[in-house]
Amino acid sequence: MAQSTDPLSQLNLRIDSMREEMVKAMAGMVGIKAVSPASGGTGESARADFLEKTLKGWGLKVKRYDYKDDSSSVRSNLISVLGKSERTLWIVAHMDTVAEGDLALWRHDPFNAHIEGDRIFGRGTNDNGEALIGAMFALKALSRSGSKLKYNYGLVLVADEELGSKFGIQKLIKEGIFIKDDMFIVPDSNTKNGDEVEVAEKSILWLKVTVHGQQVHASTPGMGVNAGIYAARLMVAMDDFLHKKYEARSKAFEPPSSTFEMTKHEKNVDSINIIPGKEVFYMDSRILPTYRTQDVLDDIKKIAKSNEFSKVRIEFEVMQREDAPQPTDPKSEIFAVISSAISRQMKVKPKAVGIGGGTCAAYFRREGWPSVVWGVGEDIAHQPNEFAYISDIVKCAKVFAAMFVQ
Ligand SMILES: [Zn+2]
Repeated sequence: MAQSTDPLSQLNLRIDSMREEMVKAMAGMVGIKAVSPASGGTGESARADFLEKTLKGWGLKVKRYDYKDDSSSVRSNLISVLGKSERTLWIVAHMDTVAEGDLALWRHDPFNAHIEGDRIFGRGTNDNGEALIGAMFALKALSRSGSKLKYNYGLVLVADEELGSKFGIQKLIKEGIFIKDDMFIVPDSNTKNGDEVEVAEKSILWLKVTVHGQQVHASTPGMGVNAGIYAARLMVAMDDFLHKKYEARSKAFEPPSSTFEMTKHEKNVDSINIIPGKEVFYMDSRILPTYRTQDVLDDIKKIAKSNEFSKVRIEFEVMQREDAPQPTDPKSEIFAVISSAISRQMKVKPKAVGIGGGTCAAYFRREGWPSVVWGVGEDIAHQPNEFAYISDIVKCAKVFAAMFVQ
């Protein structure tokens, strides 16, 4: 069988031969901290220097976009494009990491890569190092192969993903780098077998609810208004109403329905014999994209205005709100392109899912660009003793590269 003569097998051989080099690049990257200034770090500029030098060392052209953030730190983004086609398929990985957290929980220095068998440990190896190194070496392998690419390969290494992308992808989108028919892959969420491709996300609504009654001695309840009992009634009313009205289920999501959960509850009075005059509770809600977040909010306010609650004053504060953009169509070209690459390279059949959200893909979807989120590996982002399987870095490189060969 002339297996090694077809372009994909040749590409795979080339990528396999780069394994040690990938480990070296990952170790070099882990050694350069890239924590946001807002989390006590210095940003990702020094790491960008290292990655820019690496890419240029391979003979690739790199464009750099530096922005000053609120603390006047430089936040750096890198772009490298290979090919001369009309359309560009962009792979977007982030350079920044979260902080190490409690050092006592780490078995090794989080900023000095440690290798054990197939695993490489260190902050950012999993989120987003694995995909970032994989994407870089896919680009290197394609550039060395000399074969004609189906699309331009656009590699985007962004800043500031962990804290809202204000100085990363949001800025780059405004630069006008991406054009109408471009497609996007954001490899920033892992599943073990790599058989899930994220096309949709839920909206997020975090609400603080304050119920004002009137504090009074518990032996004379008629002289006050028990905020505690009204808060409890309101929680039950919200829970009943929201689950009933927003009952749609979508198989693409896990769990398949919207969630409306009463969670945190603030301390009220110090004594058993005091009727509380003020009660504060919180709701965490994740809403299917078929519903509007504003409708949920309006409904909650309507419940609070009903007769049942006329004796208390109720205040709402939105603590966090992210309205999910329209999902990417699982029939879109980008879904077909990545699915075919995954099944050719990993022998699994990918399915379209909707999961956590909160990646760069949301910004592209908001602009109407089809984008998918994919990754293979452990789901251990932000944890102590973070690691990536070296074999998964190689798999990423192979899946990415396969999307560009005929
Ligand atoms: Zn990430």
